[in-house]
Amino acid sequence: MNWVWVLLILFWTGGFAWVADNVRTALRNRHERRMELMRETKQERLSVEAAHRTPEPVCGCTHHLAKHDKAGRCHERVEVPTAWDEEKKPLRYEAGQCNCQQYVGPQPLSQVFAEDLTDRA
Ligand SMILES: [Zn+2]
Ligand SMILES: [Zn+2]
Repeated sequence: MNWVWVLLILFWTGGFAWVADNVRTALRNRHERRMELMRETKQERLSVEAAHRTPEPVCGCTHHLAKHDKAGRCHERVEVPTAWDEEKKPLRYEAGQCNCQQYVGPQPLSQVFAEDLTDRA
């Protein structure tokens, strides 16, 4: 009778190992799928955030919206060349004001709302 038990135990352990192996693989696959899903959702969220983010309010004169007054004139201090060499390269600079007459960059949302309110008042 002993050989039957030996066969049974061999079958059980072998079969158990096979089942355990399959379970392990299935779990790993599921884990990988979940990680992939998380990566995809994160990617999606990042692109949505990028689409909703307002662009930097920087004017065509390269100065920030904050440097412009209500009339749109830029008040940023700039270096104005006052002397040039024969190759038209500026030699000396003088402190001056940016020549920008109107802010042309993107308007941040808060600014748009604020202007609406002041118009009505
Ligand atoms: Zn400017
Ligand atoms: Zn400007």
